[in-house]
Amino acid sequence: MPTDAKEPSGPSNFIRQIIQADLKRGKYEGRVVTRFPPEPNGYLHIGHAKSICLNFGFAEEFGGTCHLRFDDTNPSKENVTYVESIKEDVRWLGFDWDAHLYFSSDYFDRLYEYAISLIKLGKAYVDSLAPEEIRAYRGTLTEPGKESPYRQRSVEENLDLFQRMAAGEFEEGECVLRAKIDMAAANIIMRDPTLYRIRKRSHHRTNDKWCIYPMYDFAHCLSDSIERITHSICTLEFENNRELYDWILDTLGIYHPQQIEFARLNLSYTVLSKRKLIELVDGGFVDGWDDPRMPTISGFRRRGYTPGAIRNFCDRIGVAKRDSMVDLALLEHCIREDLNKHAPRFMGVLRPLRVVIENYPAGETESLEAINNPEDERMGTRLIPFSRELYIEREDFMEDPPKKFFRLAPGREVRLRYAYFITCTGIVRDENGEIAELRCTYDPATRGGDAPDGRKVKSTLHWVSADHAVNGEVRLYNHLFTVENPAAAEDFKAVLNPDSLEILGKAKLEPALAGLGIGEPCQFERLGYFCKDLKYSTADQPVFNRVVTLRDQWAKIKKQQKADKKQ
Ligand code: ATP
Ligand code: MG
Repeated sequence: MPTDAKEPSGPSNFIRQIIQADLKRGKYEGRVVTRFPPEPNGYLHIGHAKSICLNFGFAEEFGGTCHLRFDDTNPSKENVTYVESIKEDVRWLGFDWDAHLYFSSDYFDRLYEYAISLIKLGKAYVDSLAPEEIRAYRGTLTEPGKESPYRQRSVEENLDLFQRMAAGEFEEGECVLRAKIDMAAANIIMRDPTLYRIRKRSHHRTNDKWCIYPMYDFAHCLSDSIERITHSICTLEFENNRELYDWILDTLGIYHPQQIEFARLNLSYTVLSKRKLIELVDGGFVDGWDDPRMPTISGFRRRGYTPGAIRNFCDRIGVAKRDSMVDLALLEHCIREDLNKHAPRFMGVLRPLRVVIENYPAGETESLEAINNPEDERMGTRLIPFSRELYIEREDFMEDPPKKFFRLAPGREVRLRYAYFITCTGIVRDENGEIAELRCTYDPATRGGDAPDGRKVKSTLHWVSADHAVNGEVRLYNHLFTVENPAAAEDFKAVLNPDSLEILGKAKLEPALAGLGIGEPCQFERLGYFCKDLKYSTADQPVFNRVVTLRDQWAKIKKQQKADKKQ
């Protein structure tokens, strides 16, 4: 397959094959129209991103269109801020719905008319059983349901009652409109499902016009039909609902899209259910929906993940018919892969240890040239100041090093990146006996980081000039949960990782980092990828989020899998 931009980058999959087959035999006159139908009751998460990439991706791939449709049939939960955040997130991911922005609530009049049509066809009735009775009459997987005594109401009576429901003459729970299908159906969803219920609540778009609201199963297939969707892609839990989707459209004899189910994304060390995410936010376990540890799109954006990397991840995981768990390490691998190509490098010291170069003249400063990105020559070089007093990482020094520790130690010589070889000649302690500062000498002949006599050192350290350093805060993130599948825990909040956020308040950063834009990812050499936090960074004090470490767990896992296969 040619590597055209419009070609799929992931492996082919069963949904693509269905679309291709439909196009081939001219079903839907060669059109491809998909939709992404979020309920505006929370922020989007990485699971939604998968659905967005599929729906918008197929539309793009086959020259079709993808609609953004807010499934706002439930008046009690919707919130206008969610609508705006969802739009922003879809756009940020790189997709565009053009003129195709819809709301299920825009169809309330037409849905009402369709309900009237079903009543007239003798296929829907107003039931006056109490909600508990309706539940009890439904039966179980092994026992058929029981017919409601109101099931035989006449068309006239049903029309009258339904109109009075809409006029507000009944209270919530007093009656509902149900489809008249089969109380003995093997598929419980088909046992006279509720189509409309009374909710005396204001709706964020239709205000107080309605006091009856359609159920998801009724509104969804009809909205798809009204918009002339061709392929209605949804997650597996709707597999049993397809029979009802088809029944409603066929009974009304109207345009009929094809519902196709795929397995939802599950990600290790993550919960992806809005209900659970809301609990984390409301319980104050995280710093809002956009906490950089949250699997929400807004959290990822704040964390410094890039839309391209997220899209690439969604392509790579593909689509399946069976539920599975995707390793969070793969997502991080995709982020790293993208940032490695594009992120400029800098030096930053997270836990600083002062170093005085005793043979370097006091008050003098020189500029040393550093490469901005070894992966991309076009990104050029920059100058970094060097002076007598520097900071290195505290963990890069050991007074009494074990055998495998090659970094700085008393009497040992190491390289300072882009600068000089230095040798540790002494330790200065504070009143508690803790190491407060190191004394070192440098070799002026090693400027740039190479010795003319060819002598080697075993390690290279990052550093920052003390007088020039920018003070900053750095936030390190780890998995939000301690177990791979927190959703399976009895209480997912009991397996939250107490060490998921570590705040380092005394970081010393290369001066050029002061000029880096908010949210622009960069690499701190040897430490990982970072970006300035858009919520807490100020002009005086940058706050950096660690996007991802440099350690590629995914590559390790892959290597292990290969080795296991060979055995
Ligand atoms: P949640 O389970 O998080 O509450 P939802 O399914 O209720 O999500 P909706 O707003 O109804 O959220 O979802 C919009 C679309 O996103 C639906 O088509 C849904 O199937 C899809 N979607 C939601 N979660 C996932 C997921 N984990 N993987 C893939 N698609 C998902
Ligand atoms: Mg839903």
